[in-house]
Amino acid sequence: MAVIKKVEGIVLNDFDYGETSRIINILTSEDGIIGVIAKGCRNIKSPLCNVSQKLTYGTFYIYYKEDKLSILKEVDLHNGFFNIRTDIVKISYALFLLDLAEQVYKESKAPQILKQLISVLEKIEDDFDPLVLTLILKLRFLNYLGVAPVVDSCVLCHSSQGIKTLSVKRGGYICQHCYEDEVIYQAKTIKMLRMFYYVDVSKISKVNIQIGIKKEINEFLEQYYSDYTGIFFRSNDFLKKVRELEK
Ligand SMILES: [Zn+2]
Repeated sequence: MAVIKKVEGIVLNDFDYGETSRIINILTSEDGIIGVIAKGCRNIKSPLCNVSQKLTYGTFYIYYKEDKLSILKEVDLHNGFFNIRTDIVKISYALFLLDLAEQVYKESKAPQILKQLISVLEKIEDDFDPLVLTLILKLRFLNYLGVAPVVDSCVLCHSSQGIKTLSVKRGGYICQHCYEDEVIYQAKTIKMLRMFYYVDVSKISKVNIQIGIKKEINEFLEQYYSDYTGIFFRSNDFLKKVRELEK
């Protein structure tokens, strides 16, 4: 028997199917990633036309049949992120974040991923620095992958005093007593990493961070992902090219 299922989620990717349809994969909070067919949605007159593309966040009504491909019936749009879609820099970050969320979800099955992704995308939509928000999400997601860096105390002796630097190899803060020959990060970068880890994204009202600090955190996280996670980013090279344009 067919039932109508209602799920909240965001479209991660879409593929053309047949002459006029599309298959979309939706990241949801309760049902994981689900694939559905949006019949006839490539026809501009279809009510599904604008709501069956990647980056659509809404409530999806799905005609669910066991053992068959589910059919998208209707979408109640929460946010289409139309500001992001019109900006090459913002859309590049957003596509990277969809890719990141998909991979982290597949590894961790953490139900909080959707909520965290949406709160970051909403801030990018509202013109907050997309690099800072991307770094915050990348750092948070390390939690779900079980490899978050230690940012409350020295990773070796657990002292919260005299923190000297950060270390990818050690997995977090290093104090002056335990310091050997690790790279020295700026004091502001060390503090900012902890702030990124704990900040409530929805409450951010201003972002003004020096480029040098963003660069250090970005390098730290890129190395961290490469050393501790199996995640490979398809969109990373493209994002690098976009960052070159920004300079
Ligand atoms: Zn120590």
